[in-house]
Amino acid sequence: MSEPIVIAIDGPSASGKSTNAKIIAAALSYAYVDTGAMYRTLAWHALRQGVDTTDAEAIAALCHDWPAGLVNCEGSIWLEVDGYFPETEIRTKETSAAVSHVAAVSFVRDWMKERQRSCVQFGNLVMEGRDIGSNIFPETPHKFYMDAAAAVRQARRDADGVQDNLAARDERDSTRAASPLKVAKGATIINNAGETPEETSARIMDLVRAARD
Ligand code: C5P
Repeated sequence: MSEPIVIAIDGPSASGKSTNAKIIAAALSYAYVDTGAMYRTLAWHALRQGVDTTDAEAIAALCHDWPAGLVNCEGSIWLEVDGYFPETEIRTKETSAAVSHVAAVSFVRDWMKERQRSCVQFGNLVMEGRDIGSNIFPETPHKFYMDAAAAVRQARRDADGVQDNLAARDERDSTRAASPLKVAKGATIINNAGETPEETSARIMDLVRAARD
């Protein structure tokens, strides 16, 4: 049997990764993996347990003992916590403010990498995040880096009514020591300002098909 195909989509916050990754996954019948949701789930768990999310050692210890597992729910892969998928809880202002601290802890990144790589058990994947092309699946030939100007991205988040300081999060994500946000070697940069998600995702799927033919 051939190896599962992985389409890696990275980029800063509100660059359109989720919207496009979902469209592409649905169009190709690939499993969809939102790795940001996995980090958010751990940040939510830490807040719920009263663990200081800026204390790297405490976060590493919490993650070490965390019995969360991957589940395929109608083609989307989620971390399940005590039989529950937190969805709205991981999008709150508090979780958004905490997540990039939690994501900078190297034990957490190793823990996530093991789970994220194991997602190939679910078949072909569209996986979105910050380090998918550079660190999780560097071997995939299908790497994309989505971008749009900071003001465009912040306006998108504001329009969604979500309180989220993107600039602070992007700064932490790009400057951390452990697998920072960067353009992976060989990635195609996709600037989607002024394009509809349908146009952008069609462009990405054309590039994937061209690379496979
Ligand atoms: O994609 P989303 O904005 O939901 O990601 C939330 C946070 O999770 C990011 O700001 C980043 O700190 C972290 N993250 C990461 N690596 C990934 C995906 C997300 O560090 N692959």
